[in-house]
Amino acid sequence: MSKENHEISAAVATCMDFRFQKLIADWIEERSLYGDHDRIAVAGAAGDRDALLSQIKLSIKLHGTKGVHIINHQNCGKYGNSLVSGSRAELEKHTSDISEIKEIITHEYPEVTVLGYFATLDEDGKANSINPVEI
Ligand SMILES: [Zn+2]
Repeated sequence: MSKENHEISAAVATCMDFRFQKLIADWIEERSLYGDHDRIAVAGAAGDRDALLSQIKLSIKLHGTKGVHIINHQNCGKYGNSLVSGSRAELEKHTSDISEIKEIITHEYPEVTVLGYFATLDEDGKANSINPVEI
């Protein structure tokens, strides 16, 4: 049904970082979102607010997207060296950036749900989990 009217359940907005793509693909698969989501990849994800917002807004406008999942990640190159990988400060900065996007989207599109996540690396630098953040 969703395909007939070009409406989809979700937009999944992530960083372009190659280290996380397989983890994110599995995450999408587990939620049965294939065929039912727009995939948005912007370096830094919520760390590039304007770029991410323009893509999310297009998804909502073109596809009636009902839910937006924003997945930022640990050790993101877009954030540079100002944040220590794995630190509380890093998580807080990413959470705050995702929260800012949520506020803008839900102000303009109150019917859209925005959820945030933070993907982490294990000790060997391998992407290992995607965890919800409170925004
Ligand atoms: Zn990144």
